[in-house]
Amino acid sequence: MNTPTTSTPTISPTESYDVIVVGAGFGGLYALYRLRRLGLSVRVIEAGPSVGGTWYWNRYPGARCDVESIDYSYSFDEDLQQEWTWSERYASQPEILRYIEHVADRFDLRRDVTLGTRVTAARYDDASSRWHVSTDTGRSYVTRYCVMAVGNLTALNTPSFPGLNDFQGSTFHTARWPEEPVDFTGMRVGVIGTGSTGIQVIPQIAEQAAELFVFQRTANFSMPARNRPLTPDELEAVKATYRERREKARWSFAGIPVDPATSSAHAASEEERRAAYDAGWQAGGAHALISQFADGLIDRVTNEFAADYARDRIREIVEDPEVAETLCPDHPLGSKRICVDTHYYEVFNRPNVTLVDLREAPIDGFDAHHLRTATMAYELDAVVFATGFDAITGALLAIDIRGRDGIALREAWSGGPGTYLGVGISGFPNLFVVTGPFSPAVQVNVIMAIEQHVDWVADCIAHLDEHGFIAIEPTPEAQHAWVRHVGDVAAGTLRSATDSWWSGANVPGKPRVFMPYAGGLGAFRQICDDVAARGYDGFALSNQEARGDEQREAVGA
Ligand code: NAP
Repeated sequence: MNTPTTSTPTISPTESYDVIVVGAGFGGLYALYRLRRLGLSVRVIEAGPSVGGTWYWNRYPGARCDVESIDYSYSFDEDLQQEWTWSERYASQPEILRYIEHVADRFDLRRDVTLGTRVTAARYDDASSRWHVSTDTGRSYVTRYCVMAVGNLTALNTPSFPGLNDFQGSTFHTARWPEEPVDFTGMRVGVIGTGSTGIQVIPQIAEQAAELFVFQRTANFSMPARNRPLTPDELEAVKATYRERREKARWSFAGIPVDPATSSAHAASEEERRAAYDAGWQAGGAHALISQFADGLIDRVTNEFAADYARDRIREIVEDPEVAETLCPDHPLGSKRICVDTHYYEVFNRPNVTLVDLREAPIDGFDAHHLRTATMAYELDAVVFATGFDAITGALLAIDIRGRDGIALREAWSGGPGTYLGVGISGFPNLFVVTGPFSPAVQVNVIMAIEQHVDWVADCIAHLDEHGFIAIEPTPEAQHAWVRHVGDVAAGTLRSATDSWWSGANVPGKPRVFMPYAGGLGAFRQICDDVAARGYDGFALSNQEARGDEQREAVGA
């Protein structure tokens, strides 16, 4: 394919493809690899200057994954996973970016990736069953299928504080960190935000800054990473059974190959609970406490046992009791994403670090030299926004997507998003979303979720082509039922017990809908497989004949 189809090729040629993939992060690159193997013509369009997606943009000091590297990596190619050697338990951003670049080269993916090009609009044409994709460079594309691999944590959330434009110091958002290292030596620095990102960047900046003010609105639970180099023996042992390890991860709850706990904390004595939590805390990692008992995310009392244990550790680490109390979270453990850190709480024992409790005195705004709260003015040379993202839907809605009959996605989702299985949107035929709202992606090892989504989409397209279908979209009924089901599953857990970006609560005015499927990756995979096995149950499939009938009806034939 890939043939120019317009009459004005010298100005902005329109290229034609079977599939346009938007985004060249983990999701987009795997989609390219997988769809290309079906013999389809595929083009990936990426706004950034390099492949890597979130791992290109989030290059702030301290950025690293919080799923173990040996599992936070592609599983689709046995040779790839045998060849690549991770250096640390949790890989740093530069190492993960090197890995993604290695994958792009190893599978010769770059030749089908257009960089530095932002997709601005995508419009579905009913008559031809084609998407017309526009970009900010003037290049446009016509495609049978659109795969949106735009990432969940792509669109920035930068609060619009009054006076910010007057501030004369430097400002940074962690997810748009400069390529050149930033030197904070001798500076008075403020960091706003104490989510996963803030908790990683704060200890790094504290090492350099003359003074660091940490502006905390909500205290978060953070588990020790216990990061360390991986030994050759460990790596050899993993590689000896990598295939089995991955298969276990695919069907697991969280996309990692661990055996789930089977007993309730209620069945354990206080000593047994303490021993379990001690062991978890010592081992480290996001699941250190929450996964010690089967009911950690379901039963409030069990959850409180684990949360109390975590708060006690904070009080033990942080020397100033008042500061320690301010750092103690009051939401259920796991109802916001659990953070993983290296010496986060210890940072508050440093003489150059001050914790500012925004619950006591919220940020009022900025002037030329200060961040002002309701009670104080903090003179600052630099401010780091670790304020997160307009998550899950933000990057999709940044594109003017128009489906059947010209309906805009922004309009369709004005009251909150809707998808079927996270992958399809009613009214938007032949548009697939990778790790979309109502999929489990953001609560599990996202790489395993990406592979599941992309494999399912690739199999679906192969099925459509094989059986002569030209369009697929979820029925409104199936979509409503799925969204309801996702809400029901979340309501049976403590996942949605607090405001967080999972429900859009972090962005003022965003509709509140809990978006992750909280039933786990394995269960989700089974549901998706069953849907496909039943002939894409819940999706409307149309073929050329049906389309012809529709068109004849439309012209009154
Ligand atoms: P986040 O979890 O949304 O945290 C943003 C922080 O900024 C929160 O502390 C939030 O407070 C604060 N904030 C936002 N608006 C504010 C305002 N107007 N005034 C004061 N404070 C404000 O974002 P994130 O830390 O970037 O993490 C997002 C997700 O990215 C994570 O949950 C995780 O999934 C992923 N991530 C992963 C890793 C990793 O793998 N290691 C690292 C970084 C990020 P409130 O809580 O009160 O809203």
